[in-house]
Amino acid sequence: MTRISDSQIKMAYIVSKEVFLGKLRKIDGALILSDDYDLNKASAGDFINCFKCMAEGRIFQRAMSCKAMDIFIKNIADDFSFEVLENALNALELHINYYEAQYDTNSPSMRKILNMHRATMFNSNSIESIFNQFQKDIDKSLSLSSDERKRFINASDPNPKQITVSVKVYQRNSHVVAERASIADGICERCKTQAPFLRAKDGSPYLEVHHIKHLSEGGLDTLDNTIALCPNCHRELHFGQ
Ligand SMILES: [Zn+2]
Ligand SMILES: [Zn+2]
Repeated sequence: MTRISDSQIKMAYIVSKEVFLGKLRKIDGALILSDDYDLNKASAGDFINCFKCMAEGRIFQRAMSCKAMDIFIKNIADDFSFEVLENALNALELHINYYEAQYDTNSPSMRKILNMHRATMFNSNSIESIFNQFQKDIDKSLSLSSDERKRFINASDPNPKQITVSVKVYQRNSHVVAERASIADGICERCKTQAPFLRAKDGSPYLEVHHIKHLSEGGLDTLDNTIALCPNCHRELHFGQ
């Protein structure tokens, strides 16, 4: 088999994408790849078919090289939504399982590519990155035509998926909070007025313990870095006047 160059792979990706989006007929796409980019017709057809299966999360049997797969997945991640990327990785996993069973073998290098891209995906499972990603996905979708969007909608699972996200929280020291509140003794340490009301559960004055330098900005959870505030002062410190 002749080696397929990076630029041939990139072109195969572009053509496969156009075919999937309905801008090119499959037969014309295969012709462009074979006549203009020197790919043999069978490989050209495999690329186009593989892409479609990946975008739709379906198993494919004839695969491309590991390098081509890596390039395809990277481009899918850039061009399409998180969901399409997930489809592509699921399809690749189905393919690897099929291939290993069929030929009684292991494909460690293809698995490596799968795991690498999965790891990148799950690394970005923070709330912020999910919101950012979703916003980017909407922008990408808006750049498609309505017909192209409908293709994706039709190929999508209508049941909403649940994912588990990781949220970074700062664990605060309850003793610092209690000690600061006890020092303030019911008087806001900023405006020096009485706490506006007492807590229903224990009758203690309602003040909020605030970190002067925020924990998220590297502030320490110490007495020196805290101040007990009435809700008005607390709001002002966070949101300005
Ligand atoms: Zn106050
Ligand atoms: Zn605060």
